[in-house]
Amino acid sequence: MSSRSSGAPDEQALGPRGEELADNLRTVRRRIEAACDAAGRPHDAVRLIVVTKTYPASDVRLLARLGVREVGENRDQEAAPKAEACADLGLTWHYIGQLQTNKARSVAAYADVVQSVDRPRLVAALDAGAARHERGLTCLIQVSLDGAPGRGGALPADVPELADAIAESPHLTLGGVMTVAPLAVEAARAFAELAEIGTRLRGTHPAATMVSAGMSNDLEQAVEAGATHVRIGTAVLGARRLLR
Ligand SMILES: *Cc1c(COP(=O)(O)O)cnc(C)c1O
Repeated sequence: MSSRSSGAPDEQALGPRGEELADNLRTVRRRIEAACDAAGRPHDAVRLIVVTKTYPASDVRLLARLGVREVGENRDQEAAPKAEACADLGLTWHYIGQLQTNKARSVAAYADVVQSVDRPRLVAALDAGAARHERGLTCLIQVSLDGAPGRGGALPADVPELADAIAESPHLTLGGVMTVAPLAVEAARAFAELAEIGTRLRGTHPAATMVSAGMSNDLEQAVEAGATHVRIGTAVLGARRLLR
């Protein structure tokens, strides 16, 4: 990127927004490390995905300068142009939103990981999309732990069948499991249940090691329960306007 070759990014040149993001990132990274310490887990056991939804590509660029390597988005209309504008950054793009089958081809063009796979038809559509773009996609099975419709997610009982469908798809790799803590259930209990589902899954699919859980308000409980990936938006970028 720049010809400056050493050390931390030059904070002067980041501008006020960059400094704000740098401060927030430091705080979030400290929270993750403290949660790892409390759980007796090494700091590198948990990866930070910064959820950039509703924020512009310029913020993604600043985040990349600050060492962020993985970003999350939840709407294809917004994510597709943003990912294209940031294609030179070499980031890993996680699609974390509910996904309609007719959007699967578009998402397969830029996503590296789709965390919200919850039904067989979506598996087929993503595999076809990935084939079309000659790419591979890592898929996580989104699990619904309260059975309530609205946030999406497969029932725990449907996980084995979905896992097999993903594993048998030539352009897809089964990465593991994901959840959004249901409002009705305590986050800690939901994350423990997800971890348990992940452990069971690895009985038949040993490489499916990813457990994506935890957002700005509950990352500590997720790390405690064994999450390998946390998805943090608000705590890094600030409160979103109510676009969604
Ligand atoms: C928006 C979103 C997040 C981030 O939530 P914050 O509370 O802003 O950290 C994480 N996961 C999913 C699925 C999301 O839609």
